[in-house]
Amino acid sequence: MALFRKNQEERPTIPQELIDLRNAIDKARLPETAGGTALKELERLEKTDPSAAEYAIGLNYIDYLTALPWNRHTDDNLDLNRAEQILETEHHGLQHVKERVLEYLAVRTLRSECRFSVLVVDDDETARTNIEHVMRKEGHVVESAADGNEALDRLAVREFNLVITDLKMDKIDGIQLIDSIKRISPLTDVIIVTGYASVDSAVNALTKGAADYLTKPFKLDELRNTVKKILERKHHACITRGPILCFAGPPGTGKTSIGRAIAEAMQRKFVRISLAGLRDEAELRGHRRTYVGAMPGRIISEIRNLGLNNPVFMLDEMDKIGQDFRGDPASVFLEILDPEQNARFVDHYLDVPFDLSTVMFIATANLVENLPGPLLDRLEVITFPGYTEQEKRKIARSYLIPRQLRDNGLEGKQVSFTESAVSMIVRQYTREAGLRNLEREIANVCRKLAFIHLKDRANDFKAVVDEAVVERFLGPRKFSHETADDDNRIGAATGLVWTEFGGEIIFVEATMMKGAQQLILTGSLGDVLRESAQTALSYIRSNADRFRIDPDFFVNRDIHIHIPAGAIPKDGPSAGVTIALALISLLTSRPARRSVALSGEVSLHGRILPVSGVREKILAAQRAGVKTAVFPRKNEVDIRNLPGEVIEGVDVLLASEIAELVDLVLEPVPST
Ligand code: ADP
Repeated sequence: MALFRKNQEERPTIPQELIDLRNAIDKARLPETAGGTALKELERLEKTDPSAAEYAIGLNYIDYLTALPWNRHTDDNLDLNRAEQILETEHHGLQHVKERVLEYLAVRTLRSECRFSVLVVDDDETARTNIEHVMRKEGHVVESAADGNEALDRLAVREFNLVITDLKMDKIDGIQLIDSIKRISPLTDVIIVTGYASVDSAVNALTKGAADYLTKPFKLDELRNTVKKILERKHHACITRGPILCFAGPPGTGKTSIGRAIAEAMQRKFVRISLAGLRDEAELRGHRRTYVGAMPGRIISEIRNLGLNNPVFMLDEMDKIGQDFRGDPASVFLEILDPEQNARFVDHYLDVPFDLSTVMFIATANLVENLPGPLLDRLEVITFPGYTEQEKRKIARSYLIPRQLRDNGLEGKQVSFTESAVSMIVRQYTREAGLRNLEREIANVCRKLAFIHLKDRANDFKAVVDEAVVERFLGPRKFSHETADDDNRIGAATGLVWTEFGGEIIFVEATMMKGAQQLILTGSLGDVLRESAQTALSYIRSNADRFRIDPDFFVNRDIHIHIPAGAIPKDGPSAGVTIALALISLLTSRPARRSVALSGEVSLHGRILPVSGVREKILAAQRAGVKTAVFPRKNEVDIRNLPGEVIEGVDVLLASEIAELVDLVLEPVPST
């Protein structure tokens, strides 16, 4: 660090690093506010002792400001055919997702063709018509006015993107016009044209809010470039205005992968940050510089690291923002995501606005139901469904295996996977809605093959991965497909629930003992589920005769309901029917069939109310080897809309009353 010295006249010599910073500020072409702030900070540093802590803080700050990509961006490729091809070649299925993404890009393309409106104000007719002519040739919609008053009349009728005005005019001059424009139409930019070139008038125009100025006589190219620079910024904002996409679905269903493909198609960079566990707005927006160790937030940090201001920016797991988030997450995210607001995004550390309107944000969530309402309102949710077993096998064969062979240096080697080996990995080593573990297990196999290949050093390495190889490499199978095939038991019913991981199978257990009419609920159950249990019990108590249950069964007794599998988050109403059947099984001593899985909310009168996540639940039933899945009759339409392969192998039945299910689910009382 250069020393802070004073020369004979007691004036400090400016340290070299500050001179370098001044050059850096000049070079960085910072926007007006940022440039002004950087210079002010620099002047402050010139008067600060370099050994003081603020000196280093100030130095870092200016360095940060100048290193941000204020103007650096990639040019969008809006070729839809290319985008379609990229989405198609990298992803199997997901037809509705691809269609929606392409529509979204199409709208952006059309928006990018939007024409700008320019008002030319000059009392010199020749100058006015010249500028008008150039602007028209550039494809803009142009109007003109011969003086300030006429200009204001036109501005009262419509909004212009840009006003190009002469400085010196009778009645209202250019500077006064800027004042009025900023009042009536704050989003309109103004370029001042001055024949009286003086630094003062130009600076005055800029401080009043002009976006730029031109000195007469100017070259037409100069005019074109100045206008282009201003409109380019507006152009980005114009394109990005519109809904914010939110990809929703269980982990491993291709959300990130589609996000990356969009970036590749548009030839933008891709960044992703996870919001899981986010507790504080400052993590996103940075800390004020007054804090020791203050840093910019994650959004600005990523943009700086990338060096470009228009990436595709994925805000991952937005539904997992910490429960203890300080502040209102909805308003923070709306400000960050909404192009109307984020053009002037202020990171607390930067303390000057940074334009995020050119960033293409994509949010992701496992369960959109967990997002705050006002935020959800502004998002366009695209659902990524779980995959069927058949789809998983196809994706493994056509995408995951070739990719893992490539990543593990086995490309071009003679390695093949048999059909049954792929099925075995899918069925016995993974149980998930998406493909994450499947890809991990395939990677495991490929790594082991790579090791063997290198160890043997055989030139003609050949391997056929069959079931025996899979078992040797991956160990004993992790899941048995026939979970639902265990013995039928009294007081234990099978249910289907929908969680952030997709559909899951659960087993509800009920038991009864001496006590004082308590309903004990365990298994990390949420409030809604607890209420479902209460409701189911009350329904059975009030209808005991109908089920041939002793009406006094609860007298001097406690009932305990437990839902094992601690890792599955359990809330939501759809386990109501399963709880009811577990209780009826317990109270009638009739074993419940494990291979019949139930889903439905129960009303106090025993009606079965509709549920969500039908597709995911049926897929979970398939994965667990359940033979029959029962859904509320009100879900009939959802089931009818499902593709055939989703319901393959599972009998789907509909019911509207608990009473209809008793004989279907419960076996006769076992003879002793
Ligand atoms: P998510 O972001 O939803 O958790 P990812 O995008 O990380 O899921 O997907 C996990 C893996 O599965 C990635 O390697 C991805 O390329 C692959 N994948 C997911 N869906 C498909 C699909 N439809 N076709 C091909 N590969 C897919």
